[in-house]
Amino acid sequence: MKRPPCTHTMTTLVSNIPVIQNILRTSFSNGLTRPLEWRKHQILQLARMLQDNKEVFADALYKDLGKPKLEAFGEIGVLIERSVLSAQQLDDWTRPTSIDCLDWQRSTQPTVYMAPKGTVLIIAPWNYPLALVLQPLIGAIAAGCCAVCKPSEIASHTAMALAEVMPQYLDSSAYRVVLGAVAETTKLLELQWDHIFYTGNGRIARIISTAAAKFLTPLTLELGGKSPVIVDPSFDINLAAKRIIGGKAHNGGQICVSPDYIVIPRSHQDILVSALKRFYAEFFPDGSLASDSISRIVSPSHHARLMDLIKRSKSEVAFGGRTEGQSKIELTVFKNVLPEDSLMEDEIFGPLLPIVAVENMDAAIEFVRTRDHPLALYAFTDDPALKKRLLEETLSGAVVFNDLITQLAFNNLPFGGVGPSGYGRQYLKYTFEAFSYQRSSIDVPKELEPFLAARYPPYDDEKVKI
Ligand code: NAD
Repeated sequence: MKRPPCTHTMTTLVSNIPVIQNILRTSFSNGLTRPLEWRKHQILQLARMLQDNKEVFADALYKDLGKPKLEAFGEIGVLIERSVLSAQQLDDWTRPTSIDCLDWQRSTQPTVYMAPKGTVLIIAPWNYPLALVLQPLIGAIAAGCCAVCKPSEIASHTAMALAEVMPQYLDSSAYRVVLGAVAETTKLLELQWDHIFYTGNGRIARIISTAAAKFLTPLTLELGGKSPVIVDPSFDINLAAKRIIGGKAHNGGQICVSPDYIVIPRSHQDILVSALKRFYAEFFPDGSLASDSISRIVSPSHHARLMDLIKRSKSEVAFGGRTEGQSKIELTVFKNVLPEDSLMEDEIFGPLLPIVAVENMDAAIEFVRTRDHPLALYAFTDDPALKKRLLEETLSGAVVFNDLITQLAFNNLPFGGVGPSGYGRQYLKYTFEAFSYQRSSIDVPKELEPFLAARYPPYDDEKVKI
C-alpha cells in the first residue's frame, strides 16, 4: 500500500482530548463495539494494518531505535499472529459460563458474562513503541472497549506512523491515537476512564495510580526493575554465556525483562567472563558499536543517564566500555560489582551488564531474595533442588530456567510483574480479561416464590425454625 503524505503534527491539541474521549464514550454507550463479529473485524483490520505497513513501521522503528529489520519484522509478525489468534478465540473467551450452585438455586441459571469495562486508556513507553501500544489494544478491542492509545513521545517516528496509519484501518469513533508528552498525558489523566493500562517506569506509575485513585479507575501496571540472572557453576557455562550475551544484546538491553545483573559464585566469575567475551566477539566481530545487529540507545538523555552510571561506577570493566556520539554504548560487562555500586541502584535499561560475585549459591539466592521482586528471575542450573528453592523462596513475575527473554514468545503464559514490577497480566486471553469484568447474572423464576417465602417479614417463630 502506498503511504499517504503525513498529515499529523507531533501533538494532539490538549483542548481536543476531552472531545475525543466524548466521541468514544458515545460510541461505547451506543453499543458500537458490542457485536463479536464487529470486534473480530477490527482485530483483523489491525493485523491487516501491520501487514500492509510492515515497511513503514520497520522504518519508524529504525529511526527511533536503530532497530535491525530482522527484529522489527519479528515484532510485527508476533503482533499479527496474536491479532489473528485473538479473533479466532474470541467466541471461546466471551462464551457465558454456567456456574454450579445449590439445588434450590438451579432454576435461576447462574451465569457469568465477560463484559467490556467501557472506554479505556493505553499509555505506552518507547522501548517497544509499536508492540506496547498494539498488544493492549488487541485485548481492548476483543473485550468490546473503546480505547485511546498514547504512544511514547520518545519514539516519535513510531508514534507518528501509528497516528497516521491507524485511522485508515480501525474505526475512529472507537479507537484513537493521542500524540504528545507530559502535558497531553496529564490532560488524559484528568479525565475519567474505565481502565488504564500503563506500561513504563515505576516513577510515572505512581503519577498514573494517583490520578486513577480519584475515580477508582482499575489499572494494569506493566513496570520494570532489575531482573537477575543466577548462574550455577555446575551448569554448562559456555551455553549460559552464549544465551546471556544474546539476550542482553536484544534491543540494546532496552527490554523490561533484559538481564539486569548476573550473580555467580566468585570461584567461577572469571570463567564466565571469558565465555561472555568469546561470544561477544563471535556475535559482534567488529564490536557492538559497529554492528547493524544491535539497536542503539533511544535518546541523548538516556545515553547521558547510562554514561553517568558508568562514570560513577567503581567496578572493574571486564570488557567493552567504549561509546560513540550520543546514541551508542558498547555492550559492557563489569565484574566484582558491589551492591552499593551505581550499576546496582536502578534498572539499567541499556547494554551494561554487572556481575556480582558471591560466596556460594545460598548467598546468590539471598542476594536476589532481599531485593525488589523483579519482572523476571533467570537461573542457569540443572539442579532440581535449586529450581525448587528458587520457585519457593523468591517472588518474580516469571521464573525462567536456562534461557533469557524467551518467555515473551509464549502466547498463553500470563505476562506481568509482582510488587514493584507491576500488577495485572497480559497476552491474548489475559489482555482480554484485563479490559473485561465478570458480570454475574441470575434469573429468578416466579415459581421459586414458595421456597423464598421464609425471607419476608414478619419473622415469626415458625420461620425461625425453618
Ligand atoms: P517513557 O518515558 O516513554 O514513559 C512511558 C509513558 O509515560 C509515555 O507514554 C510518556 O508520555 C508517559 N509519561 C512520561 N512522563 C509522564 C508524566 N509526568 N505524567 C504522565 N505520563 C507521563 O517510558 P519509560 O517509562 O522510560 O519506559 C521504560 C520503563 O518501562 C522501564 O522501566 C521498563 O522496564 C518498563 N517497561 C515495562 C514493560 C512491561 O511489559 N512490564 C515493557 C516495556 C517497558
